[in-house]
Amino acid sequence: MNGLVYLVGAGPGDPDLITVRGLQLIERADVIVYDHLANPSLLTYSRSDCDYIYVGKEAGRHTMAQEEINKLLVELSKTNAVVVRLKGGDPYVFGRGGEEGAVLHQAGVRFEVVPGITSAIGGLTYAGIPITSRNIATSFHVVTGHRSKKSQEIQYQPLAQLEGTLVFLMGVGNLKTIVENLLKYGKSPGTPVAIIYKASTPDQKVTVGTLETIIEEAKRADIQPPSLIVIGEVVLQRENLAFFEQRPLFGQHIVITRSRQGQSKMTRALTELGGKVTQLPTIKIKAQNLDLLAETIKLMDGYQGLIFTSGVSVKLFFEEMAKQELDCRYLHKQKVYSVGRETQKVLKANGIRTSLVPTTYTKEGLADLIRETSEVGERFLLARSAKGDPLWLSELSETFTLTEVQCYDTVSYKDPKVDISGLKAVDYLTFTSASTVHGYMAQAKSETSGVLLDALKSAKVCVIGPATRLAAESYDIVVDLQPKDYTINDMIEAILADSQTRKV
Ligand code: SAH
Repeated sequence: MNGLVYLVGAGPGDPDLITVRGLQLIERADVIVYDHLANPSLLTYSRSDCDYIYVGKEAGRHTMAQEEINKLLVELSKTNAVVVRLKGGDPYVFGRGGEEGAVLHQAGVRFEVVPGITSAIGGLTYAGIPITSRNIATSFHVVTGHRSKKSQEIQYQPLAQLEGTLVFLMGVGNLKTIVENLLKYGKSPGTPVAIIYKASTPDQKVTVGTLETIIEEAKRADIQPPSLIVIGEVVLQRENLAFFEQRPLFGQHIVITRSRQGQSKMTRALTELGGKVTQLPTIKIKAQNLDLLAETIKLMDGYQGLIFTSGVSVKLFFEEMAKQELDCRYLHKQKVYSVGRETQKVLKANGIRTSLVPTTYTKEGLADLIRETSEVGERFLLARSAKGDPLWLSELSETFTLTEVQCYDTVSYKDPKVDISGLKAVDYLTFTSASTVHGYMAQAKSETSGVLLDALKSAKVCVIGPATRLAAESYDIVVDLQPKDYTINDMIEAILADSQTRKV
């Protein structure tokens, strides 16, 4: 039996604006056919074995003709149970969703449509423009600014007579024609106009003028598609309602250099604050010596304590415990030390609440804490990175018996999917460990355009703590920001505080 095709609206740009049903279908999809206005980050919600087909459709650059897309959907339904056709905004608002539906119907393929928030309404909302407003605009009209056939020319005369809000999609190339015709048929030259570029994304840019000035303003701002052209008095309400651009980090471009795992929370927090976040993984974590770790876990009785200096080692340790059907109760006799709050959090997630955390969150502080809270000769297990400081270990070993298991290593890594050219205008470059600094430098040196080295000079460099600072300074990198406490949250706070002082 043929599969089902779902025409899903992805929303105007912000991936969080997709519907619950749309997201559920992405999660179930066998294959996703998407175009350039659907935010590609939505694909990360799909199954790991889901296939993706990009069918493009940027203004003037059609990767695949509509007829081919129609055929493709019919074909895919023969071999896939769930085909998702992901379209920007709403599938039926200038999205040719109707054509796709009709072709599927004629081919006998079952399909369903999931409406989305159209940019024609939601895009305005994010620019602080309510599409209707009592006593100001009692109707709205969404018009395509792009007509393929002469016979379908836009009827400007009736449009110019309307008092409601006019919204033109696909109108950037025709701005002059639109404005001139509306003026010609009697719209007042003082009518407010806004052009919204990439609405509801961190790149959103709003240019405001009147019918008289907007052509000049648009030239000056170098307006590009995709943009919405909004004409009407409601534009003025932006003054009070532009919440999106008021987000504290709006307009700031922040680069995160952590490995792919575990970075989403930081990205999420910064995005929620309005920042534009680029994830540039510079390291990869490679587990090692897991057999040794497993054996050591079996001998836990011989140890008085466990020492963790990173969340990664906690995770690996508990994964090995789980393989042996053990949980936190197995460690009830041992003291558990954590270098800082991040590691402490991972311990807590695994059922261990420990207060054995130094106040400074440094390895020196941790050594002091161990000395203060232990008897000479006690035995400890230290599960950590292969890049751990050997001196620290040998100093502690003078007083205690330490067994070290180097259960992972961090290696420099370059993700071929990241487009480095997007890193030309970076405001903050963040490093959350010494290895991310080394990984970044390895990438920067192997990269001929010099973009990464330039970013080190033009952006503010933010490190999580003293060890990361040392690594940066070993390359003569000037560190601009280091939070008071060495945690991700404090790092975000530091960026926030810095960006506020910049704005004043
Ligand atoms: N189905 C889509 C519209 C597709 S037509 C929807 O409902 O939103 C493509 C046009 O939509 C673009 O040329 C542009 O005018 C507009 N558009 C879509 N997303 C946009 C965005 N995030 N910012 C500005 N304009 C956008």
